[in-house]
Amino acid sequence: MADTVDAATRSRIMASIRGKDTKPEMVLRKSLHARGFRYRLHGKGLPGKPDMVFRRFNAVCFVHGCFWHHHEGCRFATTPATRPDYWLSKFEGNQARDKAATRSLQESGWRVAVVWECDLKGDGATTTAERVARWLESDQTTFHSDDGFAPSEEASVVETSS
Ligand SMILES: [Zn+2]
Repeated sequence: MADTVDAATRSRIMASIRGKDTKPEMVLRKSLHARGFRYRLHGKGLPGKPDMVFRRFNAVCFVHGCFWHHHEGCRFATTPATRPDYWLSKFEGNQARDKAATRSLQESGWRVAVVWECDLKGDGATTTAERVARWLESDQTTFHSDDGFAPSEEASVVETSS
């Protein structure tokens, strides 16, 4: 039957299913905590249950797995060869939920950050945490950790690599 997945896919799926305290998220949490930021976890009662809630900054942060949330243009956003239709509709559902949650949070006055797991891998983690920290203290309403790869409306904070 066609409903099995290969070993690599399975292990990636299992890693994702472990869920809330996956390692990349822990890296970000530790780093922000070390910088003095305090937050609550898994904001219950808030749309999309943000991974971190920074009440003092009126901000929430989602850490998105690139596979499950189908990070556009990301090498980790693969679609399993088996039952691609199933996966694509699953990804679409996840993305639609992400969008709805963000919209609803913003309508309630929350600032919303999305950090992709690929931006928390290896050396990039420190830079990403630093950018989130700066965003928290800014007055920008949104943050996307992959902004460097796409045109951004936040032109004033675009970083130049030297
Ligand atoms: Zn990614």
